[in-house]
Amino acid sequence: MTPRTVRTAGLRTGSAAYDGSVAFTLDDLPIRDDLRGQSPYGAPQKHVRVQLNVNENTHPVPADVAEDIVSSIRQALTTVNRYPDREFTELRRSLADYLQRDLAPGQALGPEQIWAANGSNEVLQQLLQAFGGPGRTVLGFPPTYSMHSILASGTGTTWIPAQRDDEFRIAPETVVAAIREHQPDIVFLCGPNNPTGTPLPIETIEAAYAATHGIVMVDEAYAEFMPADAPSALTLLPGRERLVVSRTMSKAFAFAGARVGYMAAHPAVIDAIRLVRLPYHLSALTQAAAVAALRHAPAMLAMVDDITRQRDRMVKELRAMGYRTYETWSNFVLFGGVADPHAAFEALLEQDVIVRDLGIPNHLRVSAGTEEETTVFLDAMRRIAADQPPVRVAA
Ligand SMILES: *Cc1c(COP(=O)(O)O)cnc(C)c1O
Repeated sequence: MTPRTVRTAGLRTGSAAYDGSVAFTLDDLPIRDDLRGQSPYGAPQKHVRVQLNVNENTHPVPADVAEDIVSSIRQALTTVNRYPDREFTELRRSLADYLQRDLAPGQALGPEQIWAANGSNEVLQQLLQAFGGPGRTVLGFPPTYSMHSILASGTGTTWIPAQRDDEFRIAPETVVAAIREHQPDIVFLCGPNNPTGTPLPIETIEAAYAATHGIVMVDEAYAEFMPADAPSALTLLPGRERLVVSRTMSKAFAFAGARVGYMAAHPAVIDAIRLVRLPYHLSALTQAAAVAALRHAPAMLAMVDDITRQRDRMVKELRAMGYRTYETWSNFVLFGGVADPHAAFEALLEQDVIVRDLGIPNHLRVSAGTEEETTVFLDAMRRIAADQPPVRVAA
């Protein structure tokens, strides 16, 4: 059952301690009608030993890299009395350089095609502020990243959920049919998809773009975990002025706490974002930290191969236990056949492991960790499977 009032993480809005009045909640405030009854993003934050719930890179930043980042931040602090570079020119140059590895042969991508913000969530919010809003629609394909619909709601954009094919895939015909039916202003695709890990075929992106006059946004938060020979949506940018590819430093890049996300698109799209962004939205410290981290891209990404190995090991061992898994190109595994996901979540928590219960019946999602963390999780799952044998789930 959905509670009538929104739960705020740890802090009660209806605190009697505030002024002695009881049970004053946000429902009593003159809040926007379209926000009433909504729930905030709420992945539980629990500090247990094995945290495999929000798809972070669980390997810490290497010490020498951390040292270099700190010295860049120290330098930036000497001029922190001034506003930061509003155009974060150096960071955009660094990000454009970083993306070269994923471009097609002969393709160029310049800093004028890059935009960054405090996490890709903010990038997507700005995109919706510029191209969505009241009276406009965004088409998405659940189950997908929960923030996509939450950002739509926050910006007053109508979220239209469309159906996926079997195994959570989206064929070109499927995306085209949904676009023809709903005529959205914006299409949100997620490849690889969170929370399912499903690859997004490049043909599906091409077909979506050709079927709409609107914006097509591909969320590539997990691009670095894709097979090396799988083309990124970035390769489709030339000649597609309404295509936006969003990336983040929060996942493979081991930088979730720094809050840096970015997108690549035609410079005209970047100009549109400038109309809605807050001035100086990226602090000088964030810019300095991100530029320094990008100087060490190979070291920051060194663990990606290890993470995908642990992911594949999870798939193999969960299957052997009788759980159902799906093709995943990300750093996490969605698995089905869990008799009681809530009970399994709690049982894992008791063993110092946190995973994600997304409310998909009989399913849980787990992020690949270090070899040791993965072992702790798999051993705990074997005990749970012995207690509560896996059940069959529909295809
Ligand atoms: C984790 C995630 C993000 C990252 O958001 P940030 O704000 O950059 O931390 C974006 N999109 C998807 C699909 C994700 O899973």
